[in-house]
Amino acid sequence: MSDTIFSKIIRREIPANIVYEDDLALAFKDIQPVAPIHIIVIPKKPIPKLDEATLEDQVLLGHLLLIVQKIAEQMGLTNGYRVVINNGDDGGQTVDHLHVHLLGDRPMRWPPG
Ligand code: AMP
Repeated sequence: MSDTIFSKIIRREIPANIVYEDDLALAFKDIQPVAPIHIIVIPKKPIPKLDEATLEDQVLLGHLLLIVQKIAEQMGLTNGYRVVINNGDDGGQTVDHLHVHLLGDRPMRWPPG
């Protein structure tokens, strides 16, 4: 399992603006936000990408989405928001640690780029 920048954030080896943490997950502000609110939610378990999640991770995957919901509520995103998981090269994934993007506080366009 290769180490990533997100593993270093979990271990507090590099700084991050953490907005949520529990035993299973961590959420922090994206360093290069593409929306006024851009939060990254990650499992502490280093699953490289969605493709590599298994049935064993079913509860964990649901947990990540409920964290997104909780943060969106706390940040006042009452008019909606977007949730994105980039998977693999064609998905635009750049960090090989499964993560969920929460994007909000502006209208989103469709289709995405
Ligand atoms: P993805 O392209 O889906 O793999 O998303 C990776 C995201 O991680 C990008 O939006 C980056 O801006 C973000 N990112 C990379 N390094 C950091 C960091 N040190 N702290 C916070 N966000 C980061």
